[in-house]
Amino acid sequence: MNWLAQISFWRVAWLVLSMAIVSGCADGTDYRVMQGETMGTYYRIQYAHTSSCQPSQFSVDNQLVAFNRSLSTYIADSELSLINAAPAGDIATTSKRLQHALSAAQRLWQDSGGAFDVTVGPLVNLWGFGAEKPQSWPPSKLAQAAAAESVGMQLLTLSPGGALRKHHANTYIDLSSIAKGQAVDEVSESLLALGCQDFLVDIGGEVRSAGLNRQRKLWRVGIEVPDPRQVGSVQRVLQMADNSVATSGDYRNFREFQGMRVDHVIDPRSGQPADNSVLSVTVVHQSAMWADAYATALMVLGADRGLAFATEHQIPVLMLLKSPTGEVVERYTSDMQTFLLNNAE
Ligand code: FAD
Repeated sequence: MNWLAQISFWRVAWLVLSMAIVSGCADGTDYRVMQGETMGTYYRIQYAHTSSCQPSQFSVDNQLVAFNRSLSTYIADSELSLINAAPAGDIATTSKRLQHALSAAQRLWQDSGGAFDVTVGPLVNLWGFGAEKPQSWPPSKLAQAAAAESVGMQLLTLSPGGALRKHHANTYIDLSSIAKGQAVDEVSESLLALGCQDFLVDIGGEVRSAGLNRQRKLWRVGIEVPDPRQVGSVQRVLQMADNSVATSGDYRNFREFQGMRVDHVIDPRSGQPADNSVLSVTVVHQSAMWADAYATALMVLGADRGLAFATEHQIPVLMLLKSPTGEVVERYTSDMQTFLLNNAE
């Protein structure tokens, strides 16, 4: 049976546990919520409305529309889609926004030994998880080999001035693993520039917080049980201020075929969907873009190498793994300890 368990993008992977949702807030601060849709998912902003923090939904929507027009592969004439469609040898002048994403992606590609690679797009499309749908599924070995030929950051040269040269006509950049987090950073920076001090920005589960929640306490973010049959149940709760959290998982966006389950995180080194016991990876980082990117990279690196990488780079990480008997096992780095509440709290 081949079914796409693409459960709705209204990811409830993050339940923002601001307990007093209805009862206003502890000291009379006026908390407000702004929400809408973007990048095939949702956005939700909670913020303390004050004389110096009065964001307009119109400007947030405009900012996200501009963001999509630059980095979306779902818009045929976006900046990124035009680069993806360009011939080999083509040199494009890139926007600061795209340069920011690509230079971070290049660094993580090097650091992760190729486990994180935003040129993985042809394989993501081939396995049915991208903007371009495959002709047949599952892809043949031949098709996988052909797609893999145009994958690898070595096939792109980004010069310091922002000129981007493609060395292979079929190189297709897919920023889905990093750009939602980047958008969260951009919206958060705009709120900070306005003078907002207490807010939580959530785009499709990538989250960044500042200050305190409506209870005037640290923000609390729930991490979902990594099981599509338990949508919305909470595995662990994190609490944080002035930090970001991102999760990458294999239990929401997957396909099954003859007992084989493949998900949307691809190992660029093998050309196949990452196949390890990792069900989800949650990363805390100042930047939502880096939290987003590291979460995908660690999904590919797997439990032992991923946790070793996170420890070496002092990254707070929680991994939810599937035990041989099918239970969910938690492993986390010491840096994650300070953010994790024990479930009784
Ligand atoms: P993560 O778990 O954070 O990353 C997995 C994704 O990254 C995969 O889906 C794949 O695309 C890519 N990836 C897989 N393996 C690797 C790897 N080894 N290294 C690097 N990257 C990898 N979706 C829609 O349905 N409609 C839209 O209109 C739409 N617009 C979008 C616009 C933008 C600007 C972006 C960034 C994404 C858009 N998306 C859209 C895609 C959607 O929002 C999600 O980004 C996507 O499904 C992955 O979300 P995630 O957090 O689950 O992925």
